[in-house]
This record gives sequence, C-alpha cells and structure tokens, in this order.
Amino acid sequence: MTFIKPRPYRRLTRSWCWWCCKRAAMKDMFKLRDGPVDWYFCDSEHALNWLEWRHRSVRANKVLRMLPRERETELQGRTIEDFLIR
Ligand SMILES: [Zn+2]
Repeated sequence: MTFIKPRPYRRLTRSWCWWCCKRAAMKDMFKLRDGPVDWYFCDSEHALNWLEWRHRSVRANKVLRMLPRERETELQGRTIEDFLIR
C-alpha cells in the first residue's frame, strides 16, 4: 500500500458550488463577494438561486450553509431544488 500525501495547494485552487455542491476549479467558477467572504458557484444562475433562497426560510438557510458532506446527509439523494421547492 502506498501512502499518497495530500497536496495542500488543491484546497486553494478547487472549490464547490454553494448552490448544488458541484466541485470545480475556482478559476472556472462564478465568484460572488459578500463582505469578507468569497462564495463560489457553477455560474451566475446558481449564484442568483442561492441569493434568492438563502434568506427565504430558516430551513433553506441552514442547508445552504452546510458543507458538501453534511448536505449530502441532509438531502439524502435529492437535489437542492427538490429539497427547497417541495
Ligand atoms: Zn452549481
């Protein structure tokens, strides 16, 4: 068995979409600056969805702030659209 050292720079060059959790290279993503925080999205449409939904309910706000792994548990295979709109 070979131990592969994690490459620390990957954390700085890749991110995930805060709307749908899809991962991509930061340079290809849509960046939204909100105060001191940079949020990343697949595209402007996902950024707009996120802006529209995040303050709509406590439930939506909670899930949209979760990291991908936590969110996977919460959504149980549903997409974020299914979860919010149902
Ligand atoms: Zn997305």
